[in-house]
Amino acid sequence: MELTMHPTDDATLERLLKSQDDPARRTLLRGATVLTMDDELGAFTRGDVLVEGSEIVAVGADLDAAAASAVVVDLADRILIPGFVDTHRHCWQNQLRRLIPDCDNNGAYLAVMNDWLGTLYRPDDVYVGNLISALGCLDAGITTVLDFSHNPRTPAHSDAAIRALAEAGIRAIHTTCGVMGGDFSDTWPADAERLRDTYFSDENGLLTLRMGAIAGSFARPEIALGPQGVEFARQLGIGFASDGVLGPAASDRVEQLGRAGLLGPDILLIHCLDLSDTAWRMIADNGVGVSIPTTSDATIGIAEAVPSIQKALDHGIRPGLSVDVEVSLSSDMFTQMRTLMNIQRMLAFEQRYRTSGAYPDPLTTKDTLELATYRGAASIGLGDRTGTITPGKQADLVVIDPTDWNTLPLNNAYGTVVTAADTRNVEAVFVAGAVRKWAHQLVGWDKSTVRALVEQSRDEILDRAGMDLDVLEQKVGLMRHYPERF
Ligand SMILES: [Zn+2]
Repeated sequence: MELTMHPTDDATLERLLKSQDDPARRTLLRGATVLTMDDELGAFTRGDVLVEGSEIVAVGADLDAAAASAVVVDLADRILIPGFVDTHRHCWQNQLRRLIPDCDNNGAYLAVMNDWLGTLYRPDDVYVGNLISALGCLDAGITTVLDFSHNPRTPAHSDAAIRALAEAGIRAIHTTCGVMGGDFSDTWPADAERLRDTYFSDENGLLTLRMGAIAGSFARPEIALGPQGVEFARQLGIGFASDGVLGPAASDRVEQLGRAGLLGPDILLIHCLDLSDTAWRMIADNGVGVSIPTTSDATIGIAEAVPSIQKALDHGIRPGLSVDVEVSLSSDMFTQMRTLMNIQRMLAFEQRYRTSGAYPDPLTTKDTLELATYRGAASIGLGDRTGTITPGKQADLVVIDPTDWNTLPLNNAYGTVVTAADTRNVEAVFVAGAVRKWAHQLVGWDKSTVRALVEQSRDEILDRAGMDLDVLEQKVGLMRHYPERF
């Protein structure tokens, strides 16, 4: 049965797709440089990974004995890594990608997206935003995304978001959070129970559900970070995630939860800017997940704007990374890794230069890849399912091509992935053992069809807003609508 082919070969793809629904199907990914990101397994200069159904069943230097019973994918000259994990992204917004690249403070972003354009979304728009965002993730090697969905204006909006994630075939945590402005139905948060029962009953499925909150003081009280939300989530038996964890008010809220004994690993805190040392200690002591959206903090200028990576490391926390808002920022984890590593090293080396005392260890490229994979998975409660290439875990895998113009020759695998590669080098992607990208192309999606859908939704939203799109205008009519913000 052995059929050894170049990874981008059509015949191999056909065989993979033919067996896709067979839980006993076996795939042998052979001969790659394997970065397992599993401390015990380490890495292989040349190694094999055997997948059965959705699961990794073996990892080793030579699994040739399995070749006879598997579809063999020859990955010579390739790097195999665990899929990236984006721990926080507002997927619904993304037919409006890069609409406001120069929004220069949190207030303007909120005014545009939450108080204005977000209020004009219909369920179909949420579907389209989520779909293009999820497909962009898969194309960039992101196999897991926490979809922070804070626009459930009606239950149908939530249905649409979840349908898009399911159709895209990505592993996702749909995080349902109340809206921040405009008219909305009063079905949230009660609707979370219906969502759980309708879509999330399969414990082994790709999709899971969380409750979301916004910690900032601007939030409606019922979606603020606090005991009410955490206890509501725990009664439903699901996790909890809070965006906007920044500044003294949020810090107080974290401390209150800590004193009440309510912090735990089922909670994810996003940003974690300008928090007290007490809050940080409580986060560390209780194994609370931390998500750092590096480019969001620094580029949009959120709170102190210096991502909290060193604070986290100083408290013994290895956080996950996140993209946050594609309306202003880049969409992939390569950018997140590089920006985060640059900022952490910059701060460490500055300290070394200016003081004669101790300075923080600079993050290595391997450390940084671990944040974008395993630590991300662990921070959102999926560390036992994904994030490393380990037998027993789900086969969420990414093939990186290091033979392209920007990456050849391969002299160091971690360095190539973290400091050189970009989405063009993502040659193949598997989610739960199913092929999602092959030969540098998403499998099963026609780009012109999706593009038409995205552009139509974008046009309709802007039409409802009374905004003419001008791709050269830097504030896209924002001054007209929100003169006080600029
Ligand atoms: Zn966010």
